[in-house]
Amino acid sequence: MTLRDNVHRLVNEHLKLGPTGKPHMVSALLAELRDAVTPGNSGAGDGAGGLPIPINPDAVEMLARVERELKSEYWEMLAIVWPASLEELLLQLPSGAPDAAWEAYLDHVTLDWVDKITTFLWPVKPRRKLFGKTCPSCSQAVHGEDRAVCLTLGCWDTEGELAKIGDWNIRCEACEAAWSGNEVAWLLRAFDTPEPKVALPS
Ligand SMILES: [Zn+2]
Repeated sequence: MTLRDNVHRLVNEHLKLGPTGKPHMVSALLAELRDAVTPGNSGAGDGAGGLPIPINPDAVEMLARVERELKSEYWEMLAIVWPASLEELLLQLPSGAPDAAWEAYLDHVTLDWVDKITTFLWPVKPRRKLFGKTCPSCSQAVHGEDRAVCLTLGCWDTEGELAKIGDWNIRCEACEAAWSGNEVAWLLRAFDTPEPKVALPS
């Protein structure tokens, strides 16, 4: 990803690969973040009848933080304070970088914002524990003093949706053996584990 790609994802509607691998249009990350500021504000009547509109302080803080950092980068880079909107400032960023070193640095900074906002909006769901299943590699089902489950299944994509089965993975928390791709379907069938929501390919 480049600086321009990062800015594009932050500011504009953009294409994103869905759980089925098909691209679909999604809103700008900053637009999603602004929506998250007032999560209950979904239509008529909000704020009326004496009920305050609920505010998500973490979303407010994240927006303020991106704006603060962006303005500070502009000051460092061009020694200007620019009273424009967050989106306008971001869109000018690629052409504002004075040299390749600045561009590489801003690439890193904007990717960090993309990652932080994405993680905030769509927290990663925990891996599914495969209770009572024995690891084919170390032959343990539980490990450690607290007898934690060895095998876990990763089946969620970065937006918390069920991923394609081909993207699932199984990991042993004890011996760190890992399986992916077709091996996951084989193992789940061998374990006779009911799979979440979708059928295994035959
Ligand atoms: Zn193991």
